[in-house]
Amino acid sequence: MEQTNNKPDIRQVPEAELLKFLNEYGEKPFRLKQLRPWLWKHFINTFDEIKNMPSGLLNALTSTYLLTFFESVRTLEDMDGTEKTAFRLAGDTVVEGVLIPAADRLTACLSTQAGCPVGCAFCATGKMGFKRNLTASEMYAQFVSLNRRAVQEWGRGLTNIVLMGMGEPLLNYEQVVRFITMINTSDGHSFSARRITLSTVGIPQYIKRLADDSLKVNLAVSLHAPTNEKRNALVPLNKTYPIEMLIEALMYYYKKTKQTITFEYVLLRGINDGRTDAVQLAALCRQFPSKVNIIEFNSFEGVAYQKPEAVMTGNFCRILKEQGVNCTLRQSKGSTINAACGQLSHIVNISY
Ligand code: SAH
Ligand code: SF4
Repeated sequence: MEQTNNKPDIRQVPEAELLKFLNEYGEKPFRLKQLRPWLWKHFINTFDEIKNMPSGLLNALTSTYLLTFFESVRTLEDMDGTEKTAFRLAGDTVVEGVLIPAADRLTACLSTQAGCPVGCAFCATGKMGFKRNLTASEMYAQFVSLNRRAVQEWGRGLTNIVLMGMGEPLLNYEQVVRFITMINTSDGHSFSARRITLSTVGIPQYIKRLADDSLKVNLAVSLHAPTNEKRNALVPLNKTYPIEMLIEALMYYYKKTKQTITFEYVLLRGINDGRTDAVQLAALCRQFPSKVNIIEFNSFEGVAYQKPEAVMTGNFCRILKEQGVNCTLRQSKGSTINAACGQLSHIVNISY
């Protein structure tokens, strides 16, 4: 259970304990059913905003529990409309979330960990190391804050969620699944799993568990190289879970869910952008229905990698298509404010 200011975060308190609390205040169990949507649906900041409960109970809730919500620390806006917000967690840790507007959708990119233990060579979050896992409540509070911002700026709520902010979601499996489950239910936002994408570096046992738990979110796997030799240098976790293990887990995922898997591939000049790389990548992709999302490398201070010339990027996509693989080039959003993929680190590093 999460403790902040010595009060537990109510969204993290087991329901059996909440029932006990309600019972001590002479309340019937139906109050728990009434409480759930207030915690996960109605965007409240204080218990006083709850409308269908006696004031004595609201006072008791206020003095016993904490309701996590985030004041944004600072918001930076890119010319393309992308906004980065820093959220200050208990213990003064800061994580970042990004609101990405597009013609047909408003997407929130959420963090699942403060920092990341995986340490990919080309990623700013990886360079900052790992601080801690976020709770489901802290993921939800990011969602609420970005949703509020979406309504303010664009007149409508979020349509999509991508778990592509700071951290490796599958290394925080329980809390990530709880967050997805809660916003997915009718006590939450009935937010369809089809509009949620979980991006992972690819941890085989958790990919299988995701399939068994039948969450039906879109799965995006950060591959970035078609051979173990190259991937070991970019994604250190590949030494523990080599590509063959990853592919075996993805086949399992496909067989169980029948969902197309997206491979993410950051193109790095002279590293993984050659013809042979594209041909080898295509061979991996053809093993089950999949597509490739080419991501433009976003630079940050202190990193030596570079993105390829546009013509190389175009060639890479063309070769994949010739090899029968569906490929899209992801336009980088928010790169001038360090809000693009892999650029999220502590907000004070940004001079804008
Ligand atoms: N840990 C998860 C999700 C967060 S990273 C994962 O790795 O998938 C989200 C995406 O940003 C990943 O595909 C990651 O490889 C990519 N990324 C990381 N650093 C990047 C950079 N500097 N430029 C472009 N994309 C980057
Ligand atoms: Fe972690 Fe993903 Fe960055 Fe790798 S790319 S360090 S897994 S956040």
